[in-house]
Amino acid sequence: MKCYMCAKEGKDTDAVAICIVCGMGVCPDHLVHEETPVWEGDYPIELKPDLEHIKRIVCQPCHVALKENCMFDEVC
Ligand SMILES: [Zn+2]
Ligand SMILES: [Zn+2]
Repeated sequence: MKCYMCAKEGKDTDAVAICIVCGMGVCPDHLVHEETPVWEGDYPIELKPDLEHIKRIVCQPCHVALKENCMFDEVC
């Protein structure tokens, strides 16, 4: 799988991880490793506090979206 963000910039970089939110491939430059809320089930997605504080990998657009939605303890 190739990095989706790099592909949009015209680069061809192998993805090293997959965003847990949208499922697209991301390279080391474009992944964000952070604690995220927990998803359960399908849409509508229910977000629950991540009690285990496991760091997960998300892509940059999802990272920004999550921050904007104020779903993290650090920013709320
Ligand atoms: Zn990339
Ligand atoms: Zn994503």
